[in-house]
Amino acid sequence: MTKKFLMVGAGFSCAVIARELALLGHEVTVIDKNKHIAGNCYSKRDEATGIMVHVYGPHIFHTDNQRVWDYINQFATMMPFINRVKTISQGEVYSLPINLHTINQFFHKTCSPKEAKDLIESKADLSIETPKTFEEQSLRFVGKELYEAFFKGYTKKQWGFEPSELPASILKRLPVRFNYDDNYFNHKYQGMPKDGYTEIVAGILDHPNITVQTNQAFEKRMQEEYDHVFWSGPLDAWFDFNLGRLGYRTLDFEAFVDEGDFQGNAVINYGDESVPYTRISEHKHFAPWETHEKTICYKEFSRLCEPEDTPYYPIRLVKDKALLVEYVAQANQADKVTFVGRLGTYRYLDMDVTIKEALETADQVKLSLETKQKLKPFYVDMGV
Ligand SMILES: Cc1cc2nc3c(=O)[nH]c(=O)nc-3n(C[C@H](O)[C@H](O)[C@H](O)COP(=O)(O)OP(=O)(O)OC[C@H]3O[C@@H](n4cnc5c(N)ncnc54)[C@H](O)[C@@H]3O)c2cc1C
Repeated sequence: MTKKFLMVGAGFSCAVIARELALLGHEVTVIDKNKHIAGNCYSKRDEATGIMVHVYGPHIFHTDNQRVWDYINQFATMMPFINRVKTISQGEVYSLPINLHTINQFFHKTCSPKEAKDLIESKADLSIETPKTFEEQSLRFVGKELYEAFFKGYTKKQWGFEPSELPASILKRLPVRFNYDDNYFNHKYQGMPKDGYTEIVAGILDHPNITVQTNQAFEKRMQEEYDHVFWSGPLDAWFDFNLGRLGYRTLDFEAFVDEGDFQGNAVINYGDESVPYTRISEHKHFAPWETHEKTICYKEFSRLCEPEDTPYYPIRLVKDKALLVEYVAQANQADKVTFVGRLGTYRYLDMDVTIKEALETADQVKLSLETKQKLKPFYVDMGV
């Protein structure tokens, strides 16, 4: 039997689920409070320069997941793109992630991989047996000099906390490569959509059973008009923040236009605490197959998200996790709603993980509909 579904949010999560359900013949309405589709991945051509701009910050597509790569390629021409990030620290430009080039440049050496390993081991603070904080973990892995140049200032600016107040779990693996590989990501596939991310989401939503309404915020009364709601807005917002607000970091972008080439690279980080921004993105370098006379850059500043701001990164520290447990308990009692995506499940999710989870959620929903089972509030592990 045909059902009516409401998708709150026109980002990847709800767009993918919407299409899968529309393909089954269901009637799907997708709403978004923004004036545009594509959520946090929204890209558009800047009027002054003609450059494709990633409006909510730089987005690079990368994945190991074949299903996701095949899926995205149905809706986009993916152009080859490798993210190579530089960082400016203490007056020098280095290559990230920390690799053999970074180590040799930083310590003014010409180490082989084996020598560099020995060097870093000699710098590691082995007196820290069980690192508890981010600071201890970094000192244990790479030692004081690299920690101060590459992690301390950047992390403090990004998270708004002293690294000694952040959990060690943020830095899970040794953040160093002992070769000259400066590809920021390790995944099998990496690329940039030729016509931007908005075109991909538009393609996903382009189905006769899908109706899209932008500039339309969710209202509680809407729930009655549909068999089920998929919610990709903030988890706590569904409950009108009745237990308090889950903590997020937000970003402010300061855009500026210049002639030619401003920094010669897509992303340059700023490791020093004395520089107030975390990075500058120069958007024309995300599309190296295009030529533009002018250039547009975004300086990125991170701060605590206030109620009226756009939530970007979930903070997920002890306080937030405790609150999350309570919201998840409430959500598990909720009826006719499923929480999806980065805001609905309060997790940082890359685009490929978002699409993978949306496809898997749709698989589970199909199964539940076939077997006439009630749809669940969550189809993902909430990690609480
Ligand atoms: C700064 C930044 C950089 C990133 N860079 C990368 C990258 O390089 N590579 C990568 O793979 N991933 C990256 N990501 C992750 C990527 O943005 C997410 O994977 C993706 O946006 C998740 O899609 P979503 O649909 O779950 O959420 P969103 O895209 O956030 O969509 C949710 C939508 O819900 C709408 N909404 C919320 N509340 C309501 C309401 N009450 N009524 C109506 N609509 C509502 C919002 O307006 C929004 O459009 C980055 C994320 C951030 C924050």
